[in-house]
Amino acid sequence: MSEKISRRGFMKGSTKAGLAFYLINKFSLRSNAQEIQRPIVITSGGRSGLEANEAAWEVLSRGGSALDAVEKGANVVELDPENTSVGYGGIPNEEGVVELDASIMCGKTRNAGSVGGLRNIKTPSSAARLVMERSDHIMLVGEGALKFAKAHGFKEEDLLTERARKIWLRWKENLSPNDDWFPPEDNKYEIERPQGTINVLAVDTYGNIAGITTTSGLGFKIPGRVGDSPIIGAGLYVDNEVGAAGATGRGEEVIKICGSYQVVENMRNGMTPQQACEDVCRRIIKWHNGKVNFSDKFVAVNKDGLTGCAQVRGRKGARGPSYTVFDKRGNETYYGVTIITY
Ligand code: ASP
Repeated sequence: MSEKISRRGFMKGSTKAGLAFYLINKFSLRSNAQEIQRPIVITSGGRSGLEANEAAWEVLSRGGSALDAVEKGANVVELDPENTSVGYGGIPNEEGVVELDASIMCGKTRNAGSVGGLRNIKTPSSAARLVMERSDHIMLVGEGALKFAKAHGFKEEDLLTERARKIWLRWKENLSPNDDWFPPEDNKYEIERPQGTINVLAVDTYGNIAGITTTSGLGFKIPGRVGDSPIIGAGLYVDNEVGAAGATGRGEEVIKICGSYQVVENMRNGMTPQQACEDVCRRIIKWHNGKVNFSDKFVAVNKDGLTGCAQVRGRKGARGPSYTVFDKRGNETYYGVTIITY
């Protein structure tokens, strides 16, 4: 199968066989068959992904660094009160308190920084960057992370928006018929565990690579729970010699398999980003003997700007997992591969 077909190039000049391939697989693989695509920024998708790309591209297109680009991109999403899975406006823990996880990694130096369970700071990825650049540590959590951020001038702010509070309250009221919290009479709330995260990965004009993963984590988590996002090698991994990868979805599974590190290692060993993401999804499935009731998703970009995306599980008939790509051809959403459908 040819993975060297960019969607635009492909849609323009498709053969019948090519079209069949496209329809059967319902995803597009995008690459740089002949040319190196640099600079480039990719995210794990959605409207927020396109917005993050815009901000990151602003930096990349004027020759800025991948590190500055991913931070700018991630900040846009973190500051968006409408996004309930990242930064300000994120869904809180079981006690109604927003706790954020974020990591950053620089492919050139292979240095990294992260924060876990950080409260009251709207842009945890910027705090993570300061851990990387202004401390001799990689990861700070909880109270220590907050103190460190405040020492660097971050303002403490309430991160719980009205929207997130209402979602949390409905969850709490619906938890048990045996407690004293009553749901409202018109209650149409379906209890679903909100999740979501954004990965922002970039390769700049000079071939330097950087990435950020930022999230409010699993909705209604036990206070203090830290997911994969701030764990280097799990939610994020970057190496200038190879590329970058990020994960979203059920963090516990990603931690156990060192997911993003494994995607990068797969690329180091010769896989395309697409093959590398699919391989790690398959490993997760194998560890569960083919039975999974959760999903994880990986996005990856290699140093030449070839991209890939796969998820463990998704609805039958739905498009594959989305991811967004901004390079000199524009800012677009693409769809990767779902391994198990239900
Ligand atoms: N991976 C995140 C976590 O486990 C959540 C998500 O991406 O939905 O905290």
